[in-house]
Amino acid sequence: MVRVRFAPSPTGSLHVGNCRTAVLNWIFAKKMKGRFILRIEDTDVERSTQVSEKGIIEDLKWLSLYWDEGPEIGGDYGPYHQSERLEIYRKEAVKLLNEGKACRCFCTQEELEKEKEERLKKGLPPKYSGKCLNLSKKEIDRLISTGKEFSIRFHVDSEDVEVNDLVMGDINFKSDVISDFIILRSNGRASYNFAVVVDDIFMGITHVIRGSDHLSNTPKQILLYRAFNKKIPEFAHIPMITGINGNRLSKRDGTVSVREYREMGILPEALINFLSLLSWSSPTGEEILSVDRLIGEFDFSRISKSPAAFDIKKLLWMNGYYIRNYDKKKLTELILPYFYGKNVENLYDVVDTISDNLECLAQAPEKSEIFVTDNIKFDKNVDKSILKDKEARNILSLVLNKLDEIDDFSEENLTNVLKNIIKESGVKTKNFLQILRLALTGKNQGPEIVKIIKIFGKEKCKRFIEYVLSMNIIN
Ligand code: GLU
Repeated sequence: MVRVRFAPSPTGSLHVGNCRTAVLNWIFAKKMKGRFILRIEDTDVERSTQVSEKGIIEDLKWLSLYWDEGPEIGGDYGPYHQSERLEIYRKEAVKLLNEGKACRCFCTQEELEKEKEERLKKGLPPKYSGKCLNLSKKEIDRLISTGKEFSIRFHVDSEDVEVNDLVMGDINFKSDVISDFIILRSNGRASYNFAVVVDDIFMGITHVIRGSDHLSNTPKQILLYRAFNKKIPEFAHIPMITGINGNRLSKRDGTVSVREYREMGILPEALINFLSLLSWSSPTGEEILSVDRLIGEFDFSRISKSPAAFDIKKLLWMNGYYIRNYDKKKLTELILPYFYGKNVENLYDVVDTISDNLECLAQAPEKSEIFVTDNIKFDKNVDKSILKDKEARNILSLVLNKLDEIDDFSEENLTNVLKNIIKESGVKTKNFLQILRLALTGKNQGPEIVKIIKIFGKEKCKRFIEYVLSMNIIN
């Protein structure tokens, strides 16, 4: 059975790049009817925080990327926090030590720095010299008895390492550039490469899908699999996400945190769709793809090797599509918090009216300003003087009179009523509606006029028109 994992380090909020990794792992697990595991890589005690972990977990739930094993739900391969697996790492490191595949390294940080400098001066790669590999048993015992601290260092064998990556293809790493590396620090903490491999082995991970920033770690990890005599999982390194100019993704390209997109009112469906299409594409060339289609069509062979640019405009466009097609009742619930502290009657109708023009939910208050305000505010760029014309006054009077007569404010009835008044006035529909829109909203553009009248209701419509008709306010 396919078993994949998403292994975030809780050192900040969920980054869109990591989120994309989670999305692809989840999609692949669903496609293969496998299991999606969440493992918290919190070995870096100084930088890991509970707040970050909580935030990442909340964001994954918001995206409906539920895990089959991991924090909160447990599973047969736990614990799922690296901080609770220290004893496992220690035992595994000792195993390699006893088999002669690793050694105790007594070098201090200063000694290692000095050694590195000297090698660089001589034009040699800054590799570990292998000094502690050759210590005699007697010498080791003596150093231990003096209480000298040591770490455990893995000894790299001389065979080259070939990575057969599902995305990046076959890559050969020469073993002579890989330094003997530390697997267990003197403080008892496992190094990243060691903990990951031990966990992936213990958790039966079949496919390691992660960002290509980890590609350079992969040969070291493969060497550890070899040392443990364990099957090497499949690797799939997904190209990095860049900003629109091809540079490293930064704030300038839009925010990089999933939480901020969530707060802006990007819908989870849109974010998943958008992130899946960074590097991957559907064979049909279509861009709007439901989760089911993403699962059905996902294939590693369609992931490009080159970095993908994060285009916020495309995300907003896509989000606009999802907003337009969302269930209006659910959308109203999602939009409600953006109106905190504001009193909006008929929010459902307002949402129904503005949703075609929204790119994110946070725009809702601004787009519904006309429904919230009690006083007409003219846009700076509109020509108010046309409302002084006889024709305009005539139109507005007709509407005002009609408003008194009608009680049915359904869109259907309002459409008919307007049609009749337009006929009666003899004014061109376009001009008529422009005058009416201007008198009701102070703007030249906006939602459909019948929808506006319906939401405003009789009193507000009358008040605004009367206000405009009292010519002294127009200057
Ligand atoms: N914890 C690592 C990170 O957040 C991921 C390790 C891995 O996927 O192998 O970058």
